[in-house]
Amino acid sequence: MRITCPHCDERAITRTSKRPSPVFYEVYAQCVNPECGWGGKLLIEFATTTNASRCPRRELRIPLDPGARSSWLEEINNH
Ligand SMILES: [Zn+2]
Repeated sequence: MRITCPHCDERAITRTSKRPSPVFYEVYAQCVNPECGWGGKLLIEFATTTNASRCPRRELRIPLDPGARSSWLEEINNH
C-alpha cells in the first residue's frame, strides 16, 4: 500500500504499527520530504467482507460488502 503525505504529496514511509484488535491497525507514517517532515498516525480497519473465511473466528463480525457476489450469499445461507 502506497502512502502519500497529506500536506506535500510526497511519499510517506510507514513505521511501527499496533494491532489493538483483530480488525484494527494503527500505523505510523513519516513523510520523506525533508522540507516537510510531517509524521502522523493512520487508522486502518477491516470494514467489510468480500470473501468468506474458511476458518472464521466465531466472535468476529465483519459485515458483508454490499458488492459481494450473490453466490457467496447463497453459500452462507446454506450453513
Ligand atoms: Zn510531506
